[in-house]
Amino acid sequence: MFTLQDNINERYDLVILDRDGVINLAPEEGERYILSPEDLHIDPLVIRFIVGLQKKGGLTCVATNQQCVGKGLITTGQLSEIHGVINNSILVLGGKPLEFFSCTHLIKEDCLCRKPKPGLLIEALKFFSVSPSKTLFIGDQMSDKIAADLANLEFVFADRIDFN
Ligand SMILES: [Mg+2]
Ligand SMILES: [Zn+2]
Repeated sequence: MFTLQDNINERYDLVILDRDGVINLAPEEGERYILSPEDLHIDPLVIRFIVGLQKKGGLTCVATNQQCVGKGLITTGQLSEIHGVINNSILVLGGKPLEFFSCTHLIKEDCLCRKPKPGLLIEALKFFSVSPSKTLFIGDQMSDKIAADLANLEFVFADRIDFN
């Protein structure tokens, strides 16, 4: 059902993607966080898929937990720099920069945006004025699915999509 980009464009106005484990390889065991552009291994098929959605009029954005900022491992400026690298890979294919919705809080802050809470997704819906029923969230963790369920969005695991 989700193998064809066309189907996704027909069914959804907005596609929200998780970052680590979807757009780029998840950090390796023990490393835990992407702390610089050098750590970033972007999946070119996913980038092409995103640009394909955009060129058919689809809206796209990212919802990502980045506790590394709350921990002081990187600054929000450095996080933006990493996101700039992802956006450059989209721009060179003629796409539009992704809007990034990032939770930078610590778990113990108990914020409303850290997935599995739905805050980031709800923020994205408001930003684009799109209804939950016209939105798909693509993630790689159960916490992504729980957040999607709480925001009443459809969800699919990235490994169930053929990004070709
Ligand atoms: Mg992930
Ligand atoms: Zn948060």
